[in-house]
Amino acid sequence: MSKELEELSPLGDSIHGDGSEEETEEDDEPKICQVCGDKSTGYHFNAMTCEGCKGFFRRAMKRPTQYCCPFRNVCVITKSNRRQCQSCRLQKCLSIGMKRELIMSDEAVKKRRIQIRRKRMQEEPVTLSPQQEAVIQELLAAHQKTFDMTCANFTQFRPLDRDQKAISEWNQEPDSSKYSHQIMCKVSEDTMHMAISFTSCSSTSSNSKQPENNERKQLNNIILTSLPHFTDLTTYLIKNVINFGKTLSMFRGLIIEDQISLLKGATFEIILIHFNMFFNEKTGIWECGPLQYCMDDAMRAGFQRHLLDPMKNFHYTLRKLHLHEEEYVLMQAISLFSADRPGVTHHNVIDRNQEILAVTLKTYIEAKRTEPDKHLLYPKIVACLTEMRSMNEEYTKQVLKIQDIQPVSPLLLEIVSKDS
Ligand SMILES: [Zn+2]
Ligand SMILES: [Zn+2]
Repeated sequence: MSKELEELSPLGDSIHGDGSEEETEEDDEPKICQVCGDKSTGYHFNAMTCEGCKGFFRRAMKRPTQYCCPFRNVCVITKSNRRQCQSCRLQKCLSIGMKRELIMSDEAVKKRRIQIRRKRMQEEPVTLSPQQEAVIQELLAAHQKTFDMTCANFTQFRPLDRDQKAISEWNQEPDSSKYSHQIMCKVSEDTMHMAISFTSCSSTSSNSKQPENNERKQLNNIILTSLPHFTDLTTYLIKNVINFGKTLSMFRGLIIEDQISLLKGATFEIILIHFNMFFNEKTGIWECGPLQYCMDDAMRAGFQRHLLDPMKNFHYTLRKLHLHEEEYVLMQAISLFSADRPGVTHHNVIDRNQEILAVTLKTYIEAKRTEPDKHLLYPKIVACLTEMRSMNEEYTKQVLKIQDIQPVSPLLLEIVSKDS
């Protein structure tokens, strides 16, 4: 149809564009629709037309109906009468060189729109808002203030004893609680100085299920040589986590009961994230300033494969993401502000805070990372956060088991205790 009509066209001087559906040129040509004389918006389907005639042509080409002129096929198309005769209007369109083959399919139009949007996104670089910058700066400051990256204090803990024989003898003493009792007293005194006091300190161990006889026997054979050191280390880190939370204005704004519930829920995870910064993925060793830890040290503290195997994988996976300090602290804060921890009452405000943190992390990655590192980094971090939650449960179970053999610190017990 179009070819025939084109041949009939009295006008040979059609205007040729370069073939794209939308072309707007900024030259001095008068912008008049060649079909109806209305104001033109540029070249459409190879001719200078208005939006109305552009739309008309696209619709006409997509419709199989043949138009018919009620007069004698000689209607003069103007802005005011262009709706009256579709046949002559279409003929005029074709006569000035409008081309059917330049009409994109709906699919192509959709594709093009996406391309344009994508191009715009690339042109406008993602940047952190001033509020997001402030959140990151506050988190960094809190982290640097509360976690000593040199680990200088680690040497003040009871020594990391890797001598199995000596401790084996120690464990054979029927009542080994004498030394442990001293430890507990010492730690208890420390906890008194904390600004956030945890409630009930005593009832926790009785709440834990007593291990079966078999299990107990098995556990008694485990030589927990590293436990005193790990107890001191963990107690120290728990205090750091508490201080980290307390330093954040977002956290201080919560009611004290929710602060405690969030800390109890997230402490293990925050310690894990913090410890990942020391993990050497080539050697599998945590290099903490003057001290170095390996998985066997955790086993000597009484932890079992159920926890240690996934934990090891977790540390390799997370470390390989080569996170910036900003991303690490955002991860810690996202873990802290988890409204679904047991005992939390004001879910909404905590959810909102977590969302702010999550969006900040996402934007940070968009703004500061380049491909290929950027690729899927955010979902990978979220996967690590999820992974930690299942480890958190296992950690709680194992600490309670360890506590049945050899006491850990009251503060650590508070963290793993279920009641809040
Ligand atoms: Zn027009
Ligand atoms: Zn007509």
